[in-house]
Amino acid sequence: MIPASDQREPVIAFIALGANLGDARAAVVNAMDQIAGLPSVQLLARSALYQTAPVESSGADYINAVVKVLSISPAYSLLSLLQNIEQMTGRERPYTNAPRTLDLDLLLFGSATIESEKLTVPHPRMRLRAFVLLPLHEIAPELVPAADLLRVAAQRIHKL
Ligand code: AMP
Repeated sequence: MIPASDQREPVIAFIALGANLGDARAAVVNAMDQIAGLPSVQLLARSALYQTAPVESSGADYINAVVKVLSISPAYSLLSLLQNIEQMTGRERPYTNAPRTLDLDLLLFGSATIESEKLTVPHPRMRLRAFVLLPLHEIAPELVPAADLLRVAAQRIHKL
C-alpha cells in the first residue's frame, strides 16, 4: 500500500484560512488566490468570509474562510506550499498563538490519517471551532454533522 505521504493521485483537501493582523480580509482573499494559483492544486470551492472572535488567541476579530482543492501534491508537500504562502505574507511568530497576518491549516487530506510532528490530519482541533466548521459546512455540508455545529453554537461568528 502506498503511504498517504507518497501519493500522486489527485486528492480532495480542505484548507482553513485565518488572519487578524493588518488588512485581514485582504490577506485571506489574497491567500485564496495564491492557493488557486499553485500549479499542483485546483481550487474547487471557496467559502464566504467569516468574522469571528479570537479562540486561544488575542487581538482583533479574525477573518476566516475554508477552501476545497484537488491536490496532486502529497500532504507534506501541500503543507510546505501553504507555509510558503504564510511566510510570503510576512507572518511573524513572537509567541504561541500570537496574533497573525495569516494562518493556513490543512484540515482534511482525502481520507488520510496522518499523525507526525509536522502534520496531523484530520486537523485535531477542527471539530471544536466554529470558524472552521461553519465555512466548511457552507462548501461541504456532508462533512459537518449537526451535532458538531451545535457544540460550537456559542462561539461568535458572523458571515460577511
Ligand atoms: P500554527 O502556528 O497553528 O500555524 O501551527 C503550525 C505548525 O503546526 C507547523 O509546525 C505545522 O507543521 C504544524 N501542523 C501540524 N498539523 C498541521 C495541519 N494539519 N495544518 C497546518 N499545520 C499543521
